Parts: sequence; structure tokens; C-alpha cells
Amino acid sequence: MRQSQLLSKTRKDAPKDEVSKNAQLLIRAGFVSKEMAGVYSYLPLGLRVMQKIEDIIRDEMNKLGGTEMKTSIIQSKEVWEKSNRWSDELVDNWFKTKLKNGTEVGLSFTNEEAYANILKQYISSYKDLPVYPYDFKSIFRNEARSKSGVLRGREFYWKALYSFSKDENEHNEFYERSKISYKNIFNRVGIGHLTYVTFASGGTFSKFSHEFQAVTPAGEDTIYFDEKKEIAVNKDVYNDEVINSLGLDKNKLVELNSIEVGNIFSLGTKFSEPFDLKYKNELGEEKLVVMGSYGIGLGRLMGTVVEILSDDKGLVWPTSIAPFLIHLIEISSENEVVRKTAEALYDKLAENGIEVLYDDREARAGEKFNDSDLIGIPFRIVVSEKGIAKGEFEIKERKSGKIEIIKEKDILSVILAKAACPARGIQKN
Ligand code: ATP
Ligand code: MG
Repeated sequence: MRQSQLLSKTRKDAPKDEVSKNAQLLIRAGFVSKEMAGVYSYLPLGLRVMQKIEDIIRDEMNKLGGTEMKTSIIQSKEVWEKSNRWSDELVDNWFKTKLKNGTEVGLSFTNEEAYANILKQYISSYKDLPVYPYDFKSIFRNEARSKSGVLRGREFYWKALYSFSKDENEHNEFYERSKISYKNIFNRVGIGHLTYVTFASGGTFSKFSHEFQAVTPAGEDTIYFDEKKEIAVNKDVYNDEVINSLGLDKNKLVELNSIEVGNIFSLGTKFSEPFDLKYKNELGEEKLVVMGSYGIGLGRLMGTVVEILSDDKGLVWPTSIAPFLIHLIEISSENEVVRKTAEALYDKLAENGIEVLYDDREARAGEKFNDSDLIGIPFRIVVSEKGIAKGEFEIKERKSGKIEIIKEKDILSVILAKAACPARGIQKN
């Protein structure tokens, strides 16, 4: 893509009311645009990152046995009354509205009811189970405070998978496998080294749920972390009984701030009961379906990557989710030879499936370099008069600042090698 056609521009300052580092950087670099507190639009650069995160999550969910669908955002009152979650007294973050005829409707703030209601129509026999539907969807929550940028949106995009199993055993087996998929996801987006399985509050049907907490000072959550065992306990459930039951030693736990980037929850029959979600087993007996929920906020995940990986010059994207692999920068565009060389390289890389942002703007070199650092694309290639005279290009890695000088004839193979981004840290289910 040509930068002259990119709709957004970098800017020096973020809006004054934006206090979070993630949104400040994403706004300054032209990835998102702020509509109001907790509400952001994703510009072309931001959308590309979001789509890559979505592709990684989709890949892991499909490998886990998930089946993708799309549930509606508009939800009917009757459905949510079944589980007693329509009332504003019990759920304080609904966005509700009315149809022209006065019928009340709500905008999804979560998805258990939508799935239980739909699956009720398709589950009747043990042959229909297990099943693992999921979707990517915009979610609406009337959050009281929203000061953490894209980490806590009033409108946000998430993935939610729901498991429908015949019994506890089948559920537990899937639940354990889902943890591995989640670890793979966080490894693949570049924050796996700081993201830990955390024991959090459960419900009627399970003592604990599990959160995936990414450690950063920007986090709103507090966890107690055992470095050796690589597990943590959320402050919400932190007490002597819990610590002992998990075989942890209080003196070895460190208190850390963290962001909940995902969570998994055993729901038991909490929803299958009110929705009368039953199946007939091999003996013809009626049984309640056992459910679980598995969520990840994509915007929150993107914001977490920003909080953890960016530096004082700007964003730093891992190759797996970067909007482009290469930032191609021509210096002194008015020079015909420079322009032609850059255009030719741009075409050649594009023909080979390499994603390139080509800075074809008429701007000073310093401005282009600063913008490039702010945007954070993994590799920058500079096409300059001096380099052309020597038959060379300069490649700089954004993360390390390391510079390589590559002969013109080798440039394609060097870039192709960098593009072959290995599926880092993937564990098999
Ligand atoms: P939190 O405890 O941070 O309020 P939650 O426990 O309410 O989140 P869930 O309802 O379980 O979160 O949603 C599943 C996932 O969706 C979370 O793990 C998180 O990644 C993401 N998420 C939740 N709320 C938001 C939000 N307001 N903005 C962005 N992502 C969110
Ligand atoms: Mg939570």
C-alpha cells in the first residue's frame, strides 16, 4: 500500500483527555480514531492488526474443534429473562433500546443466552454433542469508567466460544485443551512470555475460572504470581485457603499488575437449566448439557501488545500481527532514479506476496524516519541515492535497531526469509 493513499496521518499529540499509553500511541500513529471515551474506530492500519489477531485466534479455535458462526447483536428480552439477566438491577452495563413498536431490545454484552437459545433448536441427542460454536462480534457494555484506552471499551470486538458437552468429563477434557490453544494465541501475538494462567473466581459449578493475565504496569488487575510454577492467583480470590489448596507458598508469590486478555469459565448447567437444553443419551435418558465459555477481547489484546512491546519512539509490532512486514522508504522522491528504484522494489516485493507500506510521500527523510518508528512496522528498507550508487539497500529492524546492508540482487531472498515468520511457541493440543 502506498502511504500517500493511507487515509490516516501520524500526529504529534493525542487528545488531551486520553490518558492511556495504548490509545495515545495508537491515535498518534494513525491506527485508531477516538469517538468518545471507550469508543474507538479502527483505521486501515489498526484494522490490519486486528484482522491478523483475528486470523490467529480463528486458526487456534478451528484446530481446537470450534465451528465459526455469527450471532446477532440485537437481543430479545424474553431470551434474557429466562436466565434472569435482563434486569438492570442485576446487570448494570446493558445498552438497551426500543423497536418502533415499543418492544424492548438489548445489545449483546455477552453471548451465553444467545447460544443456549439457538443450540436448544439443534441439540436433542448425544449424537449432537459435543459442539463448540464461536464467533467474532462487537460487544456493548455501558462501563462506568473507561480510562484505559482500547483495553476497556464501551464497544469492543471479541471472540467468544461456548462448549456444549455431554458430561463433566467431556467438558474438562476440552477445558484443558482450550488452555493450550489460548497459550498458543498469546505466544503467536508476541506476549506469551508475560501472559500467565491465573486462578480467578468461579461460580456455582466450579471453584475457579481461569484468566490469562498479561503482566504490565498498565493493568487494572492485581495478581499474585509464582514465578517457578508460572501460575498466578487473582486478587479477587487471594486468601490462605485458596493458596493452600493450590499448593502455593505465600512467601514465594509476587504481587503484579496485569491485564486480563482472556478467560475461560466452566458454566456447568447454569444456562442449560433455564433454557431446558437437554439431550437423550445412549440409554434414552434425558440429561442436561454441560457448558463452558471462552472469551478473548481483540482490541484489548492489541492494546496489551502496545503496552508491553512499544518503546519511547513508538509502536513495535511483532511480525505475526504487524500491519505490514516492510516499511519501504524512499529518500528524495524528486530524484527520478530513487523513485524508479523504489517503485520497482515495491512491485517486486508485492508480486512475491510481501506486505509493504511504501512511503511515497514528498517529505523530509527525518519526518519519514520518525513516522516509521512511530508506526512500528518490523523492517524498514531505505532507498537512497547513495545506496543506489553502491547497488545496496539498508534494512533496519524496528525492534532492535539493527541495520543490515543488503546487495540489490539479494534483497528478495533476504526479505522472503524474514517473511517466513515461524509459528513461534505453538504447543500441540
Ligand atoms: P473485566 O474483568 O476486565 O471487566 P470481564 O471478566 O468482564 O472483563 P468477560 O466478560 O469474561 O470479561 O469477557 C471476555 C474477555 O473480553 C475478557 O477476558 C477481555 O479480554 C475482553 N473484555 C472484557 N471487557 C472488555 C472491555 N470493556 N473492553 C475490551 N475487552 C474486554
Ligand atoms: Mg474479569
